[in-house]
Amino acid sequence: MRPKVIAGNWKMHHGPSATRKFFSEFSPRFDGAEPTILIFPPAISLLAAADSRGSRPEIGLGIQNIHWEPEGAFTGEHSANMVVAAGARFALVGHSERRHVFGETDAQVELKVAAAIGEGLTPLVCVGETLDERRGGRVEEVIVRQLDAALLGVAEDAKNPILVAYEPVWAIGTGETATTDDVAEAHGILRRRLREIRGDGFAQEVAILYGGSVKPDNAAELLAVTDVDGVLVGGASLDPESFARIAESG
Ligand code: PEP
Repeated sequence: MRPKVIAGNWKMHHGPSATRKFFSEFSPRFDGAEPTILIFPPAISLLAAADSRGSRPEIGLGIQNIHWEPEGAFTGEHSANMVVAAGARFALVGHSERRHVFGETDAQVELKVAAAIGEGLTPLVCVGETLDERRGGRVEEVIVRQLDAALLGVAEDAKNPILVAYEPVWAIGTGETATTDDVAEAHGILRRRLREIRGDGFAQEVAILYGGSVKPDNAAELLAVTDVDGVLVGGASLDPESFARIAESG
C-alpha cells in the first residue's frame, strides 16, 4: 500500500509571516506520519516554513521550481543544492503554470528532474493536457510524452525517486474537476507507462497524485479512485482549515 500524499502548492501566495501563521494553525492538527503532507511555499517563505514547522518535521517541504545548474548567472533562479540547504526535500517540476506561462519545455523538465535527484530532492513531476488537447483526443499522447521526458532524467538505478501528479490544465484554478472516470483513465495510463518503461517494481512505488480544483468536499471521492495516491492542491491549500480537512480525507 502506498501511503496517501496530500500536497499543497501555494503558488505566489503567503510570504514569510503568513507562512508562520499557517503552520501555527495547521501543524498542531497533524502529528502522525500518515497521510504524507507536503507543502510547496514560495521560495522566499521556505526558511520561515522550515522554522515554523517546528515539532512536525514529518510535514515535508518543497520548492515550486528549480534551475538545473548548481550556480551561475541565472537571475531570479534557485538551484537544487540551495533549496536543500533551505530545508526543501521535494521540488515541483513541470507544473502547468511553469509550462504554459513561463514556457518550460519537456527538455527542461528532464534537466530539472535530474538536477533535483542529483541533490537528493524528490521531484513531483506534473503532467496534464489542455482543453484543446482533451477535445482533440490527445490526452494519452500528451501525458505519456511529458512523463517519458521526465523519466529520461531519472537514472536507471534510482529506486523510488519521483512522484507524479496528473493535473489537467483546464481543471487548475478553474473550479472544474475532472470526473472520477477521467481521473481513473489518466492515472491508469500513467501507471501502465511507468511499468512499460521501468518495470512493475518501480511503477508500484511511484505515487500518482491528482490535481485540479481539489476542495474539502471532493477530496475523499477523488482519493478513492483507483491509482490515485494523493492530491496536489492549489487554492484550497492556502487556508489551514480547508487544507486540514482535505488532509483528513487522505
Ligand atoms: C495546482 O496549483 O497545482 C492546482 C491544482 O491548483 P488548484 O487546486 O487551485 O486547481
